[in-house]
Amino acid sequence: MFSNISRLLAKRASKFVLSCRFNSTLTLIETTGPNVTPASLSTLTAAVKVGNPITALLLGPESEVAGKQIAAVEGVDKILISKSDKYAHLLPEEVSPLVASILKSSDYTNFFVPASTAGKGILPRVGALLDVQPLSEITKVVSPDTFVRPTYAGNAILTVKCKDKVKLASVRSSAFDPIERKSEKIADIKEISYVESGNKTQYVSEQLIKSERPELDSAKIVVSGGRGLKDKEHFDQLLYPLADKLHAALGASRAAVDADFCDNSLQVGQTGKVVAPNLYLAVGISGAIQHLAGMKDSKVIVAINKDEEAPIFKIADVGMVGDLFKIVPELTEKL
Ligand SMILES: Cc1cc2nc3c(=O)[nH]c(=O)nc-3n(C[C@H](O)[C@H](O)[C@H](O)COP(=O)(O)OP(=O)(O)OC[C@H]3O[C@@H](n4cnc5c(N)ncnc54)[C@H](O)[C@@H]3O)c2cc1C
Repeated sequence: MFSNISRLLAKRASKFVLSCRFNSTLTLIETTGPNVTPASLSTLTAAVKVGNPITALLLGPESEVAGKQIAAVEGVDKILISKSDKYAHLLPEEVSPLVASILKSSDYTNFFVPASTAGKGILPRVGALLDVQPLSEITKVVSPDTFVRPTYAGNAILTVKCKDKVKLASVRSSAFDPIERKSEKIADIKEISYVESGNKTQYVSEQLIKSERPELDSAKIVVSGGRGLKDKEHFDQLLYPLADKLHAALGASRAAVDADFCDNSLQVGQTGKVVAPNLYLAVGISGAIQHLAGMKDSKVIVAINKDEEAPIFKIADVGMVGDLFKIVPELTEKL
């Protein structure tokens, strides 16, 4: 009888080991040329919090070089690459069928992408192909099936328990630090083939604003300007020297972008970028709810505004009430 029980327990245990072994997180890693993006390193931090081994997926001609950069990162168990030219620009129409086929053929429990332009295009398509509801812009991993995400432009925070077999999520990079911890183990790199997509979309070209400044999404300090700066000339004259002194990225409100003070890639907010730097300096910005949605998680917020009733002061750690045309040059000089 005892041997029967022990045989039964052994069988149960082997089943348990088997099911645990297959619990893993597929993570799409984005690259710029041969380099892994900071947002992807933050996505790996979120994947580590799930607690299962991570398979990193890198695509495009330089995926092998980029893959080597994360082979020793904590939690990364396996690296899949496909060097096909078709994946060079991460077209969601090309990438989604590949991701869906990987998720269908193996027992992955989670799939994470950075909540970047490409990630936002890929995630819903993978969801549709697998008939699974994706979760966008998670800001916290509570457990392998429970996540926190903002809703209503960040005015409410949801904790969502996901019952799908595979949990699909995009990761808000400002909510997770880029992963740094290394492990002794070097993950194997395995090449996979192109998956026919039937895609009819073609990559034509892209125009990128080249700048020596830190990237807005990942900068530690952001200097942002609003309509209070009056015009493009003042935006350039006042904000660039201040940002240079602080080695900061430049940001803007939508009113400033709409009035052509700067390029729309600088827009912070609900319909712009979401940032959470150590220091956010808001110059001539009133603090509309849609702007706050993109910066209210910044560690220290400094606001310069001549209207002491401006809503930005409700969330500012340091508020300077006064004329920005006097305060900003003085601040720049003192810095
Ligand atoms: C669907 C939707 C999405 C939106 N998405 C975004 C978004 O992503 N990002 C975003 O920013 N907005 C967004 N908006 C717009 C948002 O509602 C506001 O209109 C916008 O943020 C206002 O920008 P602002 O603060 O620069 O301008 P204003 O609200 O006009 O504020 C200008 C401020 O400058 C101050 N000021 C003027 N002169 C001086 C001076 N000399 N010295 C000091 N202070 C001065 C004024 O007191 C004022 O507070 C969105 C709106 C909608 C409806």
